[in-house]
Amino acid sequence: MEREKFDLIVIGAGPAGLTAGLYGSRLGVKTAIFEKLSPGGAITLSSEIENYPGVCEVKDGLSFMECWSEQATRFGAQLKLEEVLELKKEGDLFLVKTSGGEYQSIAVIVATGSTHRKAGFKGEQEFTGRGVSYCAVCDGFFYKGKPVAVVGGGDTALEEALYLSKIAEKVYLIHRRDRFRAAPATQKRVFNTPNIQILWNTRVKEVRGGQFVEELILEREGREEILKVPGIFVFVGMNPNTKLVEGLAELDSNRQLKVNLRMESSLPGLYGAGDIRSESVRQVVAAAGDGAVAAINSVKYIENYRGE
Ligand code: FAD
Ligand code: NAP
Repeated sequence: MEREKFDLIVIGAGPAGLTAGLYGSRLGVKTAIFEKLSPGGAITLSSEIENYPGVCEVKDGLSFMECWSEQATRFGAQLKLEEVLELKKEGDLFLVKTSGGEYQSIAVIVATGSTHRKAGFKGEQEFTGRGVSYCAVCDGFFYKGKPVAVVGGGDTALEEALYLSKIAEKVYLIHRRDRFRAAPATQKRVFNTPNIQILWNTRVKEVRGGQFVEELILEREGREEILKVPGIFVFVGMNPNTKLVEGLAELDSNRQLKVNLRMESSLPGLYGAGDIRSESVRQVVAAAGDGAVAAINSVKYIENYRGE
């Protein structure tokens, strides 16, 4: 199979990948960005983003990301809607196999982000899409005027509980401990929202229903309780999408790609950016910063390879 050749291949078109593509192409190297879904990344699932400096208007994630791919491709980067299935190094060059073909490059930036974690209760898999959801923006409207449950105690769970409180009749926020880990400002907003009821020290044991979720079996301090709700939103953290680089470069104990301050992994020519990299603070602004750092350094690597 004929392999299309690029200087730089970026995998993932979230904030990190799109920024890397913008910087790489603007610095004059032939760049491709591969995306398996649609461009924008995880933040497109968010109901609002209010902490990206320089953007004062509070927007939903989809509107916020609208111009990022247009800007990323303005300087010649090619955005290809293909899933990367395999990444290998052959000699000095990378071979990238996708759902659409085979490609070759001198450097690769992996910016594949992270995927929501499962909470692990009985019925979670079986009822996914039938009352168990991982996206309030996508599915919140189905629960207009009805009670819903949210699981988790981080920023995502609390922000999405606030979003759902404007649609649902009532939100039960279920957390396994007696303290949240979300930002204090977000916690304050949750505490001040009358139709959010917090269930501390509570775990979801099971979801039950017929075709759709009808009730949750909760466990609190050794006792079981039934909560009648037609929907449960699970926001219990994210796992890094590092499968492509397993065995190629070093991962840390959280399975995130180990990088240094230049975003270089342990494999020469391979860079990591955004949520997948070690010590990531999982913020859009940090992902964009990583993308720029990775691209600038990968261009130096490409120039060095070519003997420029
Ligand atoms: P991602 O945005 O996850 O993008 C990775 C991209 O890679 C995805 O588009 C994915 O489809 C693609 N991909 C993965 N594997 C492949 C493959 N094999 N081939 C091709 N493409 C692939 N951060 C904030 O700063 N402020 C907030 O208010 C905020 N709210 C959030 C709300 C929610 C609900 C969530 C889930 C996250 C929120 N975050 C927020 C965190 C923020 O979304 C992430 O830190 C940021 O999106 C990370 O960017 P990224 O480019 O590293 O990864
Ligand atoms: P997170 O911060 O890792 O929080 C996960 C929450 O889920 C924790 O409260 C955890 O409980 C709980 N949990 C984990 N496994 C569980 C299980 N099996 N059953 C029940 N509960 C479980 O994840 P996140 O909220 O998705 O946030 C991910 C990252 O994105 C964070 O760095 C966050 O700051 C960032 N983010 C930022 C914003 C923003 O800046 N506005 C918005 C969203 C996300 P414990 O507390 O007991 O561990």
